[in-house]
Amino acid sequence: MSKCALVTGVTGQDGAYLSQLLLEKGYEVHGVIRRSSHRGVEDHRLRWLGVSGKVHLHDADLADLSSLLRTVHDVQPSEIYNLAAQSYVASSWRQPVLTANVTAVGVTNMLEAMRLGAPGARFYQASSSEMYGLIQEPIQSEKTPFYPRSPYAVAKLYGHWITVNYRESFGLHASSGILFNHESPLRGIEFVTRKVTHTVAAIKLGLTHELRLGNIDAKRDWGHAKDYVRAMWLMLQQDQPDDYVVATGVTTTVREMCKIAFSHAGLEMEKYLVIDPAFFRPAEVDVLLGDSRKARKSLGWEPKIDLDVMIREMVDADLERLRREAAI
Ligand code: NDP
Ligand code: GDP
Repeated sequence: MSKCALVTGVTGQDGAYLSQLLLEKGYEVHGVIRRSSHRGVEDHRLRWLGVSGKVHLHDADLADLSSLLRTVHDVQPSEIYNLAAQSYVASSWRQPVLTANVTAVGVTNMLEAMRLGAPGARFYQASSSEMYGLIQEPIQSEKTPFYPRSPYAVAKLYGHWITVNYRESFGLHASSGILFNHESPLRGIEFVTRKVTHTVAAIKLGLTHELRLGNIDAKRDWGHAKDYVRAMWLMLQQDQPDDYVVATGVTTTVREMCKIAFSHAGLEMEKYLVIDPAFFRPAEVDVLLGDSRKARKSLGWEPKIDLDVMIREMVDADLERLRREAAI
């Protein structure tokens, strides 16, 4: 019998790659889609991967428990991947209450829907390395204390602990993946890697003349979304639920990541890069570096795509998209 998965955040970066992976594995894939006045474009990432028509979409919202209960009741999933969130750190200072309602309390809504509607299902919570924030150890593992530095990270911390609590309180198969930054050509355009690759492509095609960034000394442990959704799936194939750090173990400055993009396009970074105070944050996460030994050992997971290859793939994809849009 084929397995049945319900994915919240199915229209996002990870939702698209996860749907592709699950379909390849023979799953019946259902996704939560929230109502939008832009009907017709919200599945653009699923379309990019050629899986749009294969995912069953259900109208629901993480902030609306009744819609989640109905969806779980209708779908009867064997696995639930909770990827939906207000996921952008910078926006979380401008919309802190919404971030709490969706990114924090939304997790309880999803857990409740599962507990009441499909208690035998397995649950994945999309936790984040942002929870480490002002890092308490130079390399962060599952045992490193958290110190969130944004409303987003505070909300994710709640989501992480409520997942642990439902596992311990109700015996649910609920796992939390503490994923470090992961990117791809399908990354939202507001995140720094995609902002860089998109702007570099636009400069290359003569569509713009500068790249404005904030703190380029920040360091991140960047991996590829395609590798990271594999780790999510592996977590739900284990007999016991648990928490896992997923990271490459390599950290790089925003400046170095930019250099890869410019050099791939044959451009000199210094000519185009402008530091703009508007992109500095009220509180910064200076550096993240993950210790994923537990995931590597217990799940047999390892990343296959490195930063260099990924940034080049992203620049090429942005060049292709911009050429198509501008018919250059
Ligand atoms: P995206 O921002 O690309 O996707 C977020 C998804 O959540 C979208 O499908 C969005 O829908 C959906 N969503 C937002 N609000 C609601 C709501 N109220 N109800 C239902 N759906 C909603 O994020 P990613 O794919 O990059 O990340 C997936 C998850 O992993 C997120 O929870 C993120 O916080 C977390 N994470 C991501 C990391 C990364 O580096 N990518 C690192 C660690 C954790 P819509 O398309 O309508 O906006
Ligand atoms: P985050 O780690 O989830 O906040 O992912 P982002 O991609 O949004 O940001 C990564 C880092 O890049 C942070 O330290 C930002 O401060 C830094 N950064 C510097 N300039 C920019 C910018 O213009 N946009 C974004 N999004 N981040 C920037």
